[in-house]
Amino acid sequence: MKSIPRMLMQIISCFHLLVLLIFSCSTPDINQQPDKRMIIQGIYYTDGLPISVTMENGLIKEIDRPTDIGTDSLYYLAPGLIDHQVNGYLSHSFVGDTMDAGALRKITEGFWSNGITSFFPTLTTNTDEVLTKSFETLSRLLADEHLAQSIPGFHLEGPYISAEPGFRGVHNPEWIRLPDWQEFERWNNASGNRIKEVTIAPEVEGAMEFIRKCRDRDIVVAIGHTAALADDINQAIELGASVSTHLGNGCANTIHRHHNPLWPQLADDRLTASIIVDGFHLTREEVRTFVNAKGFENTVLVSDLTRLAGMPPGEYEDFGRKLVMTEEGAIMFPEEQVLAGASFLVTRGVENVVEFTGCSLGEAIDMASKNPAQKLGLDDRGEIAVGKRADIILFSFDEGKLNVKKTVVGGEIVYKEN
Ligand SMILES: [Zn+2]
Repeated sequence: MKSIPRMLMQIISCFHLLVLLIFSCSTPDINQQPDKRMIIQGIYYTDGLPISVTMENGLIKEIDRPTDIGTDSLYYLAPGLIDHQVNGYLSHSFVGDTMDAGALRKITEGFWSNGITSFFPTLTTNTDEVLTKSFETLSRLLADEHLAQSIPGFHLEGPYISAEPGFRGVHNPEWIRLPDWQEFERWNNASGNRIKEVTIAPEVEGAMEFIRKCRDRDIVVAIGHTAALADDINQAIELGASVSTHLGNGCANTIHRHHNPLWPQLADDRLTASIIVDGFHLTREEVRTFVNAKGFENTVLVSDLTRLAGMPPGEYEDFGRKLVMTEEGAIMFPEEQVLAGASFLVTRGVENVVEFTGCSLGEAIDMASKNPAQKLGLDDRGEIAVGKRADIILFSFDEGKLNVKKTVVGGEIVYKEN
């Protein structure tokens, strides 16, 4: 028989738990209903007015615009951010042999806590063996459905790119090669057919045929790390290339003022510009010019984050190349005077693009949520709209700084600020 004090302790601890549960379910902006519906309230990110979103079975079920609540205690509410170019994070790279279940969880949770609800692990130029193995590993790890919700596909950047110094960036020329459809199909099979985007240089031999095949299979073709001029770029666009990968980067430091890869990409609205707005990859004038040329609705922000993101300044080695993380957070490959990926999340891009271009918060968020969803064919997410997946963030935006308070993925709270 239990002693009275012990029973009393159990009753008290049950009561304590109940109070905790009630308290955690009754925070002002999220309300869990008895029928598993959840209501989330905030200030709509495009118009600054209250919004109440009802979620059910992971989807957005209903949207109300209440007029009887104040906005003082509410945070901004927006679709979760989408980053389709991330090479790694928190010391782990998606290519190579350090990726495992723990690393993928750490990266995904790191993104959730910063408002990024979907991302494309991006694998760059490497050997056949390393790429095959890396795609196999990632594919196997996506059996974890909880994490897989946030990883709708992979981006393959290289190895079918320009081998010229500058244009190749930090990609190792030993592994850069001509497009090989059979090789690519092997990687795509290893990935479980999850390669959704390929970055290629259209001027290399065999590129046009490769682009045609990708488009036949609905794979997004991006132009990048390219020395191509107008003829090749225009032909690639005719064949269905639709994105410029980190426009303005993956380019030599000195180019012809008339005939270079930038003008033809800027000139054609059928190409969406993806840009890295970390303050190092592009000047603010370049950002302003690119966004002016393309329009907010045809621009997408990416981070190009690497495994060094979040590491202290110093010297590092990645795939046999000596890299330097500067005090300011730029990652350099000094031997060829080029940048080697970025160390700031796409949220920094949102903050910077507001500052650099004077665009609204709504336009900046769209460049990192709605626009990438539309351009990459992620039709189930990227907008606060009935029927879309409930990927929602609540955040403050004070003095140009975006601070994520809560993140919801598929209708479930995956991050909450302490
Ligand atoms: Zn690149």
